[in-house]
Amino acid sequence: MVFEGLAEKLQGALQKLKSKGKLTDKDVKDAMREVKLALLEADVNFKVVKDFIDKVKDRAVGHEVMESLTPGQQVIKIVHEELTALMGTTQSKLNFSPKAPTVIMLVGLQGAGKTTTGGKLGGYLKKMGKRPLLIAGDIYRPAAIKQLQVVGAQLDIPVFSMGDKVSPVHIAKAGIEHANKHGNDVVIIDTAGRLHIDENLMEELENIKKEVVPHEILLVVDAMTGQDAVNVAETFNHRLGIDGVILTKLDGDTRGGAALSVRAVAQKPIKFVGMGEKLSELEPFYPDRMASRILGMGDVLSLIEKAQASFDEKKARELEKKIRTQEFTFEDFLEQLQQMKKMGPLSQLLEMIPGANTKQLKNLEMNDKELIHIEAMIRSMTIEERRNPSIINGSRRKRIAQGSGMTVQKVNNLLKQFEQTKKMMKQFADMEKSMKKGGKMK
Ligand code: GDP
Repeated sequence: MVFEGLAEKLQGALQKLKSKGKLTDKDVKDAMREVKLALLEADVNFKVVKDFIDKVKDRAVGHEVMESLTPGQQVIKIVHEELTALMGTTQSKLNFSPKAPTVIMLVGLQGAGKTTTGGKLGGYLKKMGKRPLLIAGDIYRPAAIKQLQVVGAQLDIPVFSMGDKVSPVHIAKAGIEHANKHGNDVVIIDTAGRLHIDENLMEELENIKKEVVPHEILLVVDAMTGQDAVNVAETFNHRLGIDGVILTKLDGDTRGGAALSVRAVAQKPIKFVGMGEKLSELEPFYPDRMASRILGMGDVLSLIEKAQASFDEKKARELEKKIRTQEFTFEDFLEQLQQMKKMGPLSQLLEMIPGANTKQLKNLEMNDKELIHIEAMIRSMTIEERRNPSIINGSRRKRIAQGSGMTVQKVNNLLKQFEQTKKMMKQFADMEKSMKKGGKMK
C-alpha cells in the first residue's frame, strides 16, 4: 500500500495525542520527534523534514490549540494541512493549448516508466474525450518503439513512428504535423532516457524542446528511488524547465520520500501518480487526498471517482431493481466481481476508506485471492445454476467443487453467504425506500 511504514508510524505517533484530554508542550514535542523520525525513515529530504516539523511545532504549541477542547485533533489537523501544503496544496492540472494540438513531452531516466506512462496518459486523455496521438521518440532503447505500439494498440490510440534512423527532433516535428492533419488534439512525445543523467541526453531533450515548444514537459520519475528521484527532478528542472512530475510505482514498496519532497525541493508539482503496471493505473495527484491517505483518514472522493469510472450507471440502476425484487443472481454477482476488479486491488480501495487500519489492510491481499476462488466457483456453475441457485443439490455441489478446485465446504459457504447477502441487500434497499418516503433521507 501507499506509504505503508510511514502511515503506520505517523498514525501511531498522532494516536497518542488524540487520546489525551489536555496536551503539554512536551506531549507535542515528543510526538513531533516521532513524526520527524518517521519522515526521515521514509526517505524524505532532510531539509524538508526540518522545515515541516518547525512549521507544525510553531502552530501546534500555540494557545489556540492547547486550550481547545480537542487539542489532539487540532494537532492532527495541522499536520494534515502542512502535509498537504508540502505536496502542493491544490491539484495541478495539465495545461491545454487553445490551439490544437497540445504538445506534451515526457522525459526521464530509463526504466522510470516513461513509455508505460505515455500510454496511461493517452488513455486518461482519451477518457476525457480528447483524441491523443503517441509519438515514438525513443530511438535508442531497443524495442521502445515496439513497446509504445503495443501499448497504443491496447488502448486503441494511434502511434506515430519513423523507426530508429531519424533524429528525435525530426520525429517530434513530423508527429505534430501528422496530428494536425488527422485531427489529434493532444500529442504525447515519448523521449529517450539514459541510465544516468548525461550531457548528450540533456542536449537532445533541449533540442526537441526548442523545436517543438511543448505546452507541458512532464518528468517521469520512479518513486521507489526515493531521494534519487528528487535529485533527478532538480537536475531536469534546472536544465529543461519542467512543468510537472509524474511519480510512478507508488503502488510498490515505496517509502514515500519522493512524493513528499519533490515539490518542496524541485519547486514543481506532481501532476499524476502511477499506481500499478496496468494501463488504467494512473491517478491525478491531489495533495490533500494523499495527506488523508497517509494519515489514515481515507480518501472517499477518489474512491467515488474510481467507482464512477469503472461502473456503468445504467447497469447500476438495473442492479438496484434486481436487488429490490430479489432477482439478484450469481450471474449479476459475477459481473460485479469483474467491475470491482477493474477498480484495482481491494487493499488499494480499502485504504481510501476512512478509519481503515494499516495493519488490517495487510491481510487483504489474501482476500483478493478469495475473490479469485469465488469467481472460479461461480464459473464452474451452469447458467441455470447461476440463475437459480436453489437447484444446486449435493451432487451439483460436488461437481462445482471439482470443477473449481475447491472443497464442497467452500461451495456450501458460498451458497449460504450468497443467500444471506441477498436478504441483507433487500433489507437495506427496503429501509432506504421507506426512509425516502418518510422524507428523512435525500
Ligand atoms: P521507460 O524506460 O522509462 O520507458 O520505462 P517503461 O515504461 O518500460 O517501464 C519500466 C517498468 O516499470 C515496466 O516493467 C513497467 O511495467 C513498470 N512500471 C511503470 N509504471 C509503473 C507503476 O506505476 N507501477 C508499477 N508497479 N510498475 C510500473
